[in-house]
This record gives sequence, structure tokens and C-alpha cells, in this order.
Amino acid sequence: MGKVYLIGAGPGAPDLLTLRAAKLLAEADVVFYDALVHPDTIALATKAKKIAVGKRAGQLSTDQRFINRILVEAGLRHACVVRIKGGDPMLFGRAQEEIDALDAAGVPLEVVPGITAALATAASLKTSLTKRGVSRSVTFATPRVGHGETPGEWADAAANGDTAILYMAMGEVEAVHAALMNRGIAPSTPVVIVENASLPNERQIRGTLETLPTLVAERITGPAILCIGQVFGPIDARSSTTAEAIVSTINN
Ligand code: SAH
Repeated sequence: MGKVYLIGAGPGAPDLLTLRAAKLLAEADVVFYDALVHPDTIALATKAKKIAVGKRAGQLSTDQRFINRILVEAGLRHACVVRIKGGDPMLFGRAQEEIDALDAAGVPLEVVPGITAALATAASLKTSLTKRGVSRSVTFATPRVGHGETPGEWADAAANGDTAILYMAMGEVEAVHAALMNRGIAPSTPVVIVENASLPNERQIRGTLETLPTLVAERITGPAILCIGQVFGPIDARSSTTAEAIVSTINN
């Protein structure tokens, strides 16, 4: 029996991978990867058999139970098995189902974190998700409802926090707009959609909660994240004025 490593590949750019992940990829006998993982990252697994699983192109299967089962089988047969997913596996990655299946089968498991899309997006936008006097809380949520799930109160969570980051929201912008307006979020609240965060083809589309439904008119084909909150608005004029006053004092 070997060990299964559930690894976060980071948001897209292959150099946003942890050193631990790179080392394990080089050691791996088998790698199961999702479509969002960059080819250069998978190429680090020089001696491994590489198998595509997951939701997008070239997959072996989209069925989660099937993925759980092949992970267990591989863990029982190989010394080093890597299961690698985009971003961090513990956020919207169905990690718990794989962890529970491996636990139930008694296969040793280790989780290696990765940079989640929300944090790569904040870096690209050069916008802190928390900011003194503006945002003391951040909500990671998704309006997407999976098979057999009842619609959760994601919108309450998003509306109650200062900054909201919505994963898998591109197909639901109308619903997001309506739900947040209904909860009294100001129509002028700044909104940014970031597609392919951290990659060379990254796009940033800015608007407000009011204009949100029109922002996806330009076709978004890559993974995209929806950011909502005052931190995404223009830089506060007062603080820059204060800073300018201090700089001029220093210079004089
Ligand atoms: N575990 C992943 C999330 C998987 S869910 C993580 O931690 O990032 C898939 C969703 O993640 C996409 O629908 C999109 O909302 C977001 N996403 C993943 N990669 C992204 C990227 N490079 N740019 C923008 N959003 C991304």
C-alpha cells in the first residue's frame, strides 16, 4: 500500500505551485489530474502514468464515485499517487468525498494546499480583499447548485460579508444580481469578473452590481470568478490626499 497526495495546483500559472507539490509530482507513479491544471505542471511528473479525470476535456469520467474508486485502487497498488486539482483542493473541489473514500479504505492520505483562484485574483487586481474601514470579512461562495442539492442560502452569506468572491457563477449572473439586489446591496457596489486569473490570457471586466448582467455579454470561455464589494471600487480619494500631504511635508 502506498500514499495518495491530494494536491492543489494553484490558479493556473504553473509557477504558482508549491515546492512540496513539485517534489511529489516528480516522485509520483500515477497522476490523476483535472482539466484546469496547466500542462507544464503535469509535465513535472516525469515518471508517472498521467490520467485526465474531471469535468472538462479529455476526461476518463465525470462521475465522482468512479474517481473515488480509482483513487483507492491506485493507492492500494502504487507507492506515490497524486490527485491534483486546480487552485486549492479544499475549496469547491469535492475533496471531502475523495478524502472520505480513501479513509474508509484505509489508504494513507496527505493534502497539499494550493493558491485558490480568489487569492490569485486579488493579486492580479492588486486589491486586498480586506481593508481597514472597508472590509473585515470575505465570503467565498458559489451560486451553483449540484445534483441532489437544495439551493443553499449562499446569497445571505454573500450579502452579510463585506467582500464576496463567487466561484462558478458565470452561468448565474442574472440570479446573483437579483438575489443581492433583493437583499439590499447597493446597485453601485463595484463588481469585477476575472477570467483566467494568473494566466497570459487573463481578462478583467469591471462594472457594478447594477450592470452585472451585461458584463458577461462578451463571451467568457475560461474559468472566471466574480468579485463584489467596495474594495473593488476606485481608490479612496481622502487617503491619497492625506498621503500626498505627508509626502509634500517630507519633501519640503
Ligand atoms: N479549487 C478551485 C476552485 C474549483 S471550482 C480553487 O481553489 O480555485 C472552479 C471555479 O474556480 C471556476 O468556475 C472559477 O470560478 C474558479 N477559477 C478557477 N481557476 C480560475 C482562474 N484561473 N481564474 C478565475 N477563476 C478561476
